[in-house]
Amino acid sequence: QKGLDVYAIREQFPILKREVKGKPLVYFDNAATSQKPQVVIDALVNYYTNYNANIHRGIHTLAEEATAAFEATRDTVQKFIGAASREEIIFTRGTTEGINLVAYTWGRQNLQAGDEVIISGMEHHSNIVPWQIICEEKNAVLKVIPVDDNGELILEEFEKLLTEKTKIVSVVHVSNALGTVNPVKQIIDAAHAKGAVVLIDGAQSSVHLDINVQEMDCDFFAFSAHKLYGPTGVGALYGKKQILEAMPVFQGGGEMIKEVTFAKTTYNDLPYKYEAGTPNIADVVAFKAALDFMTETGMKKMRDYEHELLAYATEQLEQIEGLKIIGKAREKTSLISFVIDKVHPQDVGILLDNRGIAVRTGHHCAQTLMERFCIPGTIRASFAIYNTKEEIDALVEGLKKAIKLLV
Ligand code: PMP
Repeated sequence: QKGLDVYAIREQFPILKREVKGKPLVYFDNAATSQKPQVVIDALVNYYTNYNANIHRGIHTLAEEATAAFEATRDTVQKFIGAASREEIIFTRGTTEGINLVAYTWGRQNLQAGDEVIISGMEHHSNIVPWQIICEEKNAVLKVIPVDDNGELILEEFEKLLTEKTKIVSVVHVSNALGTVNPVKQIIDAAHAKGAVVLIDGAQSSVHLDINVQEMDCDFFAFSAHKLYGPTGVGALYGKKQILEAMPVFQGGGEMIKEVTFAKTTYNDLPYKYEAGTPNIADVVAFKAALDFMTETGMKKMRDYEHELLAYATEQLEQIEGLKIIGKAREKTSLISFVIDKVHPQDVGILLDNRGIAVRTGHHCAQTLMERFCIPGTIRASFAIYNTKEEIDALVEGLKKAIKLLV
C-alpha cells in the first residue's frame, strides 16, 4: 500500500495557501484546532445554501433533509468510534461540554460525601474543573494519578488510589501538553474491577488513534469535531446505553421532552434526552464530512505519516543546543512540547510567527502539569497530516535564529 500523498492532501486545505507575514503559513498548532478541508467547508456552505431548516419536528422537505443529514452524522460517529448503537451518541458543543454533562448528571446522581473521583496529573482544565465543582458540592474527594519524569502516568500509584470509594475515573487518552498516549485499557479494567465507571477525554486521541469504545470498554468518551478536521462548536459524547438511561437529564427545554404539563414533564428517549434546544445543525452536518474525509484518506496511512513526522521532528529538535523536550513517553502522538534554556516560550512564539510559523506557547490549559515539571509553560509544535518535513526544517531554522537573537 502506498503511503500518504501529503501534497495531494495539502491541496484539499485552502488555508494552507495563505501567507503570514509574507511567508507561507506553517501551521503547527493542530492540537489546539486543526485546519479544515474543502469538503468540510463545502458541507457548511451547502447546508446554509440549500437546506437550512430546524430539525426533527418539521414535515416540510427542507426540515426532512436537514434532519436526515443531522442524523446521518450520528451514524457516522457511531461507526467511527465503534459504539454499539446510535442512541449512545449525544451531540455536544465539544469535549468540555461532554465532560460537564457527565459531571452534572452522573456526578450529581451518584456521588455522595466521602466518595472519590480520580483524575490524572496530565488533565486539561476541562477535565479538572467540572470534577472540582461537583466534588465540592457533594463533599467528595478528588484524587490525582501522578506523572513521572517521562510524562507517563504512574500506574502503581493509580492502583493504590483506587478504593471501594472510587466512583468515577476520568482521564485523558492523549495529553494535549505532552503527546503521551495513556494505557487507557489497563486503567479502565482496573477501575471496573473496583466498581468505578470511567470517562475518557478523547479530545486529542480521536484524531490520532483508532477508537473503539466497545473494545476499550470505557463508560463515557468525549471528543470535539474541531480537532479532527471538522468545524468548531460541536462534538460528541458517547455513553453506555444503560448508564445514559439511568442518568438524570442535563439541560431542560425543547427536544429533550416527551410531554410537558405544568404538573409533570416526561423526558424523551436517548439520545434526545440530552439534546435540549436547537442544536448546532450546520456544524453537526459538516462533522460527518470531516469523519468521512478521515476514513477515505485512510486511518493507517494517516497514523504512519504522523509517526514519521514525529520521529523526524524529535530527531531534528534534539540536535538544537539548549532545547529540552518535555515528555518522553514510550508512546506518543505527533506532538512535541519543549523548552529552551534562558528563553521565554512566548518570545520564541513571536519570532516564529514572524516567519509564518504557528506554534503554541504557554501552559496549554494544563497548569497543574506545568507545575509538575516546574516550568511556566512550553513551546508546542503539533503536527497534522498536511504538515511536511520541509516545514519541520523551517521550524528548526526558525528556532536556531530565535535562540541566536534571544540568548
Ligand atoms: N481535553 C483535551 C486533552 C484537549 O486538548 C482539549 C482542547 N484543547 C479539551 C479537552 C477541550 O476541548 P474543547 O475546547 O474542544 O471543548
